[in-house]
Amino acid sequence: MHVVICGGGFAGVKAALELANKPNIKVTLISKSSNFEYHGALYRTATGSSPLEVTIPLREIFMTAHNVSIILDEITLLDPKKKYIYSSTSNAYHYDALIMALGNQVNYFGLDGMDDHSESMITVAEVISLRHRIVQLIKSKIEHPHIVVVGAGATGVELSGDLQTFADEISEKYGVKRKNIRVSVIEGSDRVLPLLKPKLSEKALIRMSKLGITVRLNTRVNSCEPGKLCLADGEIDADLIVWTAGSRLVDFYSENAKHFEIYRGKIAVDEYMRAKGHKDIYIIGDNAATQYSGMAQTALHDAKYISRILIGMSKGVPPVKYRDRKPIYVVPIGPRWAVLQTPKQTIYGYKAWLVRRRADLWIFKNFQPYKDAVKQWRKGNKKANF
Ligand SMILES: Cc1cc2nc3c(=O)[nH]c(=O)nc-3n(C[C@H](O)[C@H](O)[C@H](O)COP(=O)(O)OP(=O)(O)OC[C@H]3O[C@@H](n4cnc5c(N)ncnc54)[C@H](O)[C@@H]3O)c2cc1C
Repeated sequence: MHVVICGGGFAGVKAALELANKPNIKVTLISKSSNFEYHGALYRTATGSSPLEVTIPLREIFMTAHNVSIILDEITLLDPKKKYIYSSTSNAYHYDALIMALGNQVNYFGLDGMDDHSESMITVAEVISLRHRIVQLIKSKIEHPHIVVVGAGATGVELSGDLQTFADEISEKYGVKRKNIRVSVIEGSDRVLPLLKPKLSEKALIRMSKLGITVRLNTRVNSCEPGKLCLADGEIDADLIVWTAGSRLVDFYSENAKHFEIYRGKIAVDEYMRAKGHKDIYIIGDNAATQYSGMAQTALHDAKYISRILIGMSKGVPPVKYRDRKPIYVVPIGPRWAVLQTPKQTIYGYKAWLVRRRADLWIFKNFQPYKDAVKQWRKGNKKANF
């Protein structure tokens, strides 16, 4: 069976690893990036940690996988009747089973000026550009620079929590006067971390105000211009705007819209994670309209499920139905402090932060042998040459 996997992120790479060296299965993994990127630690790259922590070359991950071919390419077109997927370089890939795991891209909801005048944080390249902007700002002559983060989901909260510490590190490194940066977080809903229980949102808010972060809840952003953000109830000055408030399906799906059914902004799937109306196209990770999609843990869970049923099918075993798994949420906010929500408990503080560090290691263990995973994890303690 030839399994073609599109997307070299959490779901695609994990599915390929699970299928590695399995008899009667040949895997082609197509991705437009040559590295696996660990998004959960991108906020650390933005605030001075080495980007090596968040990137693992795909070739390294699949060094011992004899049945997996890695192809650096961007897929653009699907022909489900002929069972072909085509790429921007006019390559054609024939499949018996197709796994789509293309992840998300930034969504500005059409807000005027946001694309041009804000920084986003979905890829390593984007966060390196953001880090550069922060360094320039701290080195500049502006006395009290104002960084405005749009969105108080996990990404916005994690980033804002580390900004003052990073500003101090930049001042020290470049011998410039220490600056009290102003950090504001703008959130449209009535609490920070809206996916978590209200009690944890309250604790997070208290922690953020202790770190000197100004949080504006129930505040809609309308547009932005150089140096300012226009809100539904007025304007605020902003030396740097970071957009963390939205992501959406990658354009591939709108460009191939006739083949897919959209449900709540994602691809509708049946009980076996097949795109609705297809027998051999599976959708996993952030692309799938499942209850907990949008989380790395869900992407890993999906990948394990899909590879299990494909291995079964190659042996003539009928597939079992997909079952959701509730994810664990753990959000660090500033040095050595986090909030944690599991299906059974909620905690906050240093202990929760320790859980987060262990969770980072667990992520790497999904893709690397234990020793390499520990090495990768330790790279997070190294500083980048910013
Ligand atoms: C800043 C940030 C922080 C996050 N923090 C956490 C966290 O703490 N915990 C958590 O559980 N989740 C977190 N997430 C969510 C998590 O990263 C995603 O749920 C996970 O990456 C989804 O996996 P995926 O395989 O669906 O997509 P991705 O991991 O995004 O992989 C998609 C891959 O497809 C490739 N691709 C896209 N289009 C094409 C194309 N046309 N052709 C070929 N290749 C293509 C991309 O280059 C990429 O390699 C975070 C996300 C972000 C952005």
